[in-house]
Amino acid sequence: MNTLTISSNFIRNIIDEDNRSGKWNGRVETRFPPEPNGYLHIGHAKSICLNFGLARDYGGVCHLRFDDTNPEKEAQEYVDAICDSVRWLGFDWGEHIYYASDYFEKLYEFAEYLITKGQAYVDSQSAEEIRQLRGSLIQPGQNSPYRDRPAAESLDLFRRMRAGEFPDGTHVLRAKIDMTSPNINMRDPVIYRIRHIHHQRTGDKWCIYPMYDFTHCISDALEHITHSLCTLEFEDHRPLYDWVLDQLVEQVPCHPQQIEFARLNLTYCVMSKRKLIELVEGHFVEGWDDPRMNTLAGLRRRGYTPASIRLFTERIGISKADSWIDMTVLEDCLREDLNEHALRRIGILKPLKLIIDNFPEDQEEACYAPNHPQKPEWGKRMLPLTKTVYIEQDDFMEIPSKGYFRLSPGAEVRLRYAYLIKCVSVVKNDQGMIEEIHCVYDPATKSGTAGADIRKVKGNIHWLSARHAQPAETRVYDRLFNHPYPDTGDKDFKSYLNPHSKQTITALVEPSLLDAQTEQCFQFERHGYFVADRMETQPGKPVFNRAVTLRDTWGKMAQEQAPITAKGRSK
Ligand code: ATP
Ligand code: MG
Repeated sequence: MNTLTISSNFIRNIIDEDNRSGKWNGRVETRFPPEPNGYLHIGHAKSICLNFGLARDYGGVCHLRFDDTNPEKEAQEYVDAICDSVRWLGFDWGEHIYYASDYFEKLYEFAEYLITKGQAYVDSQSAEEIRQLRGSLIQPGQNSPYRDRPAAESLDLFRRMRAGEFPDGTHVLRAKIDMTSPNINMRDPVIYRIRHIHHQRTGDKWCIYPMYDFTHCISDALEHITHSLCTLEFEDHRPLYDWVLDQLVEQVPCHPQQIEFARLNLTYCVMSKRKLIELVEGHFVEGWDDPRMNTLAGLRRRGYTPASIRLFTERIGISKADSWIDMTVLEDCLREDLNEHALRRIGILKPLKLIIDNFPEDQEEACYAPNHPQKPEWGKRMLPLTKTVYIEQDDFMEIPSKGYFRLSPGAEVRLRYAYLIKCVSVVKNDQGMIEEIHCVYDPATKSGTAGADIRKVKGNIHWLSARHAQPAETRVYDRLFNHPYPDTGDKDFKSYLNPHSKQTITALVEPSLLDAQTEQCFQFERHGYFVADRMETQPGKPVFNRAVTLRDTWGKMAQEQAPITAKGRSK
């Protein structure tokens, strides 16, 4: 069983301490705050499982809040996809679904309040001028010539910005903090800008939109969030988060604590929505839910289960130190889950015809295979053996290499769950390609009978009766990138796309697999785990995706390619 043992982490320690001291009266309210500008990826799963998991474990609530302050990049499609993915992962926000855009009126009111208190001003410089006066990491910034304009003038301009009197880029509202602060985020950050653009929820009501740093902390406070968890890149924004809330102490109900943790970096993946969009829009993949994508929608179609992803996020833990997690950790979590839960079935990916010369022509002999080798209670299914069967091309070698124990001329192997067979001849076509192989079987050696152990053989190969096997479209997927750190190199990440990441074949499968339900997972014996594609499977006509092989075949390659930088995640 995949029993999740919840391990402690520094955030749980903080909450435990808050509960001891009574800081929040035992309340734990967290939130997952995605921007609806793309589909969620596996990195988001870390944040979702953390936020919803804490709320669950401490008897609190977790909000789903859309940070929808940037209408040019946002869309309802993304809102829907995000809701879907969070629910699929097994979390429920109940009635607690919020949108930053619901707070636009309040945010505006607070902005006016800051202006009247002399803590915000309208700056009429261009974006370029603002950039120039901002300074750098080694140089302090300089005050804008508009910094000391009277509050009444700023207020008038701000109202007219809202009323739509000015074109984009002519004015912004800035917090008045400190242009010489060593923290650039504190150098009079812009908190409102003009954008004459339709918003997916507020329509054309607004033509000024609040910036993330201003919106986020206020949204947290208005929702009574206790612990506002975010990734490490927001550490330098925390002073601004606190500054805004300190100014509004009489306006908002509480001052949540921002706590940063390390984001997930996973090998063979790109973890930024911008890059994922590039893959979709450039048709490098077949959409956001392409089974090769490390989006949650893609992983789902690939055959990942919610339990496997939750197990993964638990296993990698939460810390303050940036690190890379190897893709095999995620794959192993899926193997663990599916090993436990998937029915065993036979699928032949590259069929080769095998004729048992001494097997009676019309005979069908029942052989029995367990549905799960460790779960006798799951029972067995019947596999009919007939004179002509298919085996896997890879299970035959005309001139066997050293250590090859499967079928070759003169060699004896077991047809799984059936008899020992010996290869007696090979038939080739005009081009010299093997068309069929001929064997004889030993009727005294049937699996499960006393004769099964007369002779020991090393090869034990799977097969399907030619008369019964059914064709099924099957996609053999591999990793999307052939480099473990595709977005940290000098080259464009797309140059590391693996040209062999998708191969479509017609496999032969057991007849019962034609009834596979969408998203049902199977172990194809000796091959790996396959899922019936949730979009393309039709009743009686499954399409299978290979989720993962039985064993890791990539470990060696990952060792050979060291990271280009340890923390080169590019935004
Ligand atoms: P991206 O750069 O992929 O667009 P983002 O941080 O801009 O990601 P948001 O929609 O703002 O995406 O993210 C919502 C939440 O998910 C944030 O709290 C963010 O910190 C968290 N998150 C995003 N990426 C990761 C990651 N790789 N690991 C852990 N948490 C993440
Ligand atoms: Mg973001």
